[in-house]
Amino acid sequence: MIIKKEQVVTIHYTLKDKEGTVIDSSKGEQPLTYIQGIGNIIPGLEAQLEGKKVGENIDAVIEAKDAYGEIIKEMIQVVPKSGFEGDDELQEGIQVQVETDNGAIIARVVKIEGDDVTLDLNHPLAGETLFFNVDVVDIRPATTEELDHGHVHGPGGHHH
Ligand code: ZN
Repeated sequence: MIIKKEQVVTIHYTLKDKEGTVIDSSKGEQPLTYIQGIGNIIPGLEAQLEGKKVGENIDAVIEAKDAYGEIIKEMIQVVPKSGFEGDDELQEGIQVQVETDNGAIIARVVKIEGDDVTLDLNHPLAGETLFFNVDVVDIRPATTEELDHGHVHGPGGHHH
């Protein structure tokens, strides 16, 4: 069996940035289980895993545009400090939850200057080239129900 569209794939992965710093890893924790071909994971990784078999180990370098996207300047915004509840606790570098037209998202406080708070609403990994090392642990066909829901059920997935 190979990784192709609508297969449930279980992987162990380590994600590093271009400096070689580990950003995230499933090693020593639960492996990641996802459905191939329906946008559960970033498109660049999905593309590089296509056709791989259980037991394969893959090094995948994913450009920002195929990962979390480029940094969008318009998503760096200056807002008034007075708009925050508990604005005493605002500090550069912390993350805050912001309501947008598309729901609540996490933003980073980049700069505070007087009443001006600069927020970066880009994904923290936007603009980054990602370096994955992936072990393919398991592959099985997705059930009709899993495809309906758009996520994996059972181990590593949803329980409901
Ligand atoms: Zn479900």
